[in-house]
Amino acid sequence: MIAKVIVDISASDVDKIFDYTAIDGVERGCRVSVPFGNRTVEGYCIGFSETTDVPPEKLKPIISVLDDRPIISEEFLGLCDFMTSRFHLRRVDVFRLFLPAKMRGGRIKALERIFIEVNPEYANVDPALFIKKTAHAQLEVFEYVRSEGAAEQSKLNAEYSAAAVRNLVARGVFLQKREQVSRTPYAHIVQKTDAVTLTDEQNTAVDTILQSDKPTLLFGVTGSGKTEVYLNAISETLRTGKTAIMLVPEISLTPQVMRLFRSRFGDEAALLHSGLSDGERFDEWRRLLTGEAHVAVGARSAIFAPLQNIGLIVIDEEHDTSYVSESNPRYITREVAFFRAKYNGAHCVMGSATPSVESYYNAQNGMYTLVRMPNRINKRKMPEIETVNMCNEVLYGNSGMFSAKLISALDECLASGSQAILFLNRRGYSSYVMCKKCGYVAKCEDCDVSLVYHKDENLLKCHYCQRRYAKLDLCPNCKSPHIKQGFMGTERVVEHINRMFPKARVIRMDNDTTRTKDAHLNLLSDFASGNADILVGTQMVAKGHDFPNVTLVGIIDADMSLHFSDFRAVERTFQLITQVAGRAGREQKPGRVILQTYTPGHYVYRLVSAYDYEGFYSKEINLLHTSGFPPFTEILRILISCENESIALDATKFAIDEVRNIASERQDDFIYLNAMRSPKKRIQTKYRMQILMRIKPNCGVREQVYIVADAVAQRFPQVTCFTEINPNDLS
Ligand code: ADP
Ligand code: ZN
Ligand code: ZN
Repeated sequence: MIAKVIVDISASDVDKIFDYTAIDGVERGCRVSVPFGNRTVEGYCIGFSETTDVPPEKLKPIISVLDDRPIISEEFLGLCDFMTSRFHLRRVDVFRLFLPAKMRGGRIKALERIFIEVNPEYANVDPALFIKKTAHAQLEVFEYVRSEGAAEQSKLNAEYSAAAVRNLVARGVFLQKREQVSRTPYAHIVQKTDAVTLTDEQNTAVDTILQSDKPTLLFGVTGSGKTEVYLNAISETLRTGKTAIMLVPEISLTPQVMRLFRSRFGDEAALLHSGLSDGERFDEWRRLLTGEAHVAVGARSAIFAPLQNIGLIVIDEEHDTSYVSESNPRYITREVAFFRAKYNGAHCVMGSATPSVESYYNAQNGMYTLVRMPNRINKRKMPEIETVNMCNEVLYGNSGMFSAKLISALDECLASGSQAILFLNRRGYSSYVMCKKCGYVAKCEDCDVSLVYHKDENLLKCHYCQRRYAKLDLCPNCKSPHIKQGFMGTERVVEHINRMFPKARVIRMDNDTTRTKDAHLNLLSDFASGNADILVGTQMVAKGHDFPNVTLVGIIDADMSLHFSDFRAVERTFQLITQVAGRAGREQKPGRVILQTYTPGHYVYRLVSAYDYEGFYSKEINLLHTSGFPPFTEILRILISCENESIALDATKFAIDEVRNIASERQDDFIYLNAMRSPKKRIQTKYRMQILMRIKPNCGVREQVYIVADAVAQRFPQVTCFTEINPNDLS
């Protein structure tokens, strides 16, 4: 018997299946150890055959089988087939999505559970006697274990602090109990309580989701209580003995959200967030695989949770761009969700206050079921959005970044003891370093993008490759000392606030302040608990946070996302403004939003301040129709990159010729086709070229283009060649 094996090596440019002689115990879906060249590598057995073309003297047997039963289920083997053909991926890259890093490279861990109990000697002692007052994490986890009696270590590590648990174990305060787990899913289901009473709108939404045989689009305004709808739909699903996956944008996995899931589902839920170490991630994954946990909550990659018998998949904030993976392996999460929903006979719900135009279009066409929740909980009013024309401010002599209206609103807000959020569209958008005399702009030598001045480190950085450069004192071009280092970044906003409102406590949140593990969670919980008056941030503050005390939202530079050369620029602007405005006035106090713009006449501002999603949608869908963009077409991009510019050019020339051949035979299917340098001409010393096309959706051209991409990879081994469907970012 011949086993078909995918070898787990990253250098394999070609997606090949290798033949080995099968040995006892090998099954389809098992990991195996196989000889490869003069090495031993890991691989995945994906099937069997009776015969092989490999000559007998070259055929080698599998060395050993690494799993006692298939670790990759039939569902995932099918999903792998779907993903490789739909997104043009290598199988090995897809398998890597399915298994946590800890499961690869021979680092197999026993499927053992470790429970933590409080040492009886400490159970009735005041913890102040043996835990320092400042060791909050230790106190918190101690109190939790004491109240629960016992808890699984992996869960404590993931949800409290691994360091705190280790410390308490080392000091003998906690005792460890080991238990080998059997893989019997769904041993018991605990129903935790404290659900709120749903409103009629919410009840209708839950019923619709659980009855629909199509995916449901839940279109509910900010603050309409969508989270509660998901929680109830998940509870219902668990009650019928099925499992559920809930996807949220990474940035929304706040302490609040995690606490909510923990309190509602207890051990039933596995929380997969970016703060987990490989070991912690493996533990959560194992709990899902063995059926100890029945709900997976996490960002995009949680769609690959090893659950069986899935009854519900939730995609919260479905319009969020993080659901499309933008580096290899590139995939569209929604499509993976639909595959799994279909395989399992599960319901699927996508929720948003600002659905993507594409999803709303699908709902209009009957591909999705549409449910609306047009009212906020307790009929709270949507905050009023006031537009300020910044050009007038300059006329009246105010050239600062805050309009007079925003300053007085901040004053009022702080005086009344409420909190404010100030939103900047993009970190360091206008942060380029420019010579005021000759116009020279400092750029990264490797990436051909403008450098960004970082005041705290007093240097220039490239945001693409992180390369650092010394600050410019003299223009290298004309030797003028008049260099504009200033910029409208979050740092500058904070400086201004400090000057104008010296008493206000400010938190800054952007890619710089949230680089470390847990950083953004800590900043958010600081703000939520009232340790600051103003939160200044980029896109990250726009996501679904619920801060009851926020009454004012200032949008400093609403226009920025309008100027991107992206066909979705207006849609993004509408979504961002609605989302960030939705952070205001969520409790009793009414909210106010001040939107600063240099182009107040743009239709998007009229529609967004009227909360007129439908008006926006019908305008947008007409534009997309006349200009031939998705959902009416499919954008396909071949991205070619190489250190050697002339090889990149040759490869691109080869590819465009091949694609032109296809196009000449199928003119009706091509709306647009061109080859060009990518807008970011160089990233990390690699030259980047792209072939862009717009084609009729599902007309078969895509498959032909994939064959061209394979041919490029074969002929030009030095280049990296990827394809993307409807990418978010064409840079
Ligand atoms: P959305 O996700 O739609 O923006 P949330 O789910 O954050 O809205 O809900 C807004 C607020 O309303 C939250 O504080 C939530 O706890 C509360 N809430 C939701 N449903 C109910 C309900 N049925 N009764 C009372 N409060 C509710
Ligand atoms: Zn100069
Ligand atoms: Zn760079």
